[in-house]
Amino acid sequence: MNAPRPGRNVVGIGMTSQRTRARMVERLREQGITDVRVLEAMAGVPRHLFVEEALASRAYEDTALPIGFAQTISQPYVVARMIEILIQKKEPGKVLEVGTGCGYQAAVLASIATEVYSIERIRELLERARTNLRELRLKNLRLMYGDGAAGLEKAAPFDSIIVAAAAPELPQALLQQLAPGGRMILPLRDGAAQAQRLILVERSARGYTETALDPVRFVPLRVGKA
Ligand code: SAH
Repeated sequence: MNAPRPGRNVVGIGMTSQRTRARMVERLREQGITDVRVLEAMAGVPRHLFVEEALASRAYEDTALPIGFAQTISQPYVVARMIEILIQKKEPGKVLEVGTGCGYQAAVLASIATEVYSIERIRELLERARTNLRELRLKNLRLMYGDGAAGLEKAAPFDSIIVAAAAPELPQALLQQLAPGGRMILPLRDGAAQAQRLILVERSARGYTETALDPVRFVPLRVGKA
């Protein structure tokens, strides 16, 4: 067993304990999340390791929190909901996440899928994610620095693609890098000013189908590296 980093008690007491996380998972169940793969993964990943220490006591509240660089760690319900839809009635297969941020959702994905690539355009944030993830030793997770709107050609095609930032329209590169039989879930801007909606894209041998789901609120997907 590794020694925890100073001030970051992995075993945890109080607000960062296993029991607090179990309560978060119980809330997710009450909110309608049913996939045991998702619930177990979220019970296993210590979310408090991914937020700044000053906010660690709030890590298991169902809310987005700041992670620096004007970005946020996604709300637990939204993480659970998006992954549940992504892997509904199928294996996740090879997964691409666009927008690593602090690395939390990447850790949840890597607890479920055999192979996960996560790409982030802010280098410092990617380094922070690397540090946050180190002690979890997820050997099936690869973090990449780059513009995720262009996907990750060298590892394509992907069975599952999940985007953690809102685009104005479906990124063409991601559609192309989705394998037949694959699924992509992403927030898209929905006409009016701030409105966004989760969109599920399914690719079959014949083409793509799009389904509009819940209204959401994400940071914008930016073009190019920072
Ligand atoms: N997945 C994170 C949420 C991160 S917030 C979690 O677990 O909570 C969204 C992230 O998307 C931000 O870090 C932002 O920098 C990143 N992002 C925005 N546009 C991007 C792009 N084109 N390529 C890669 N990352 C991008």
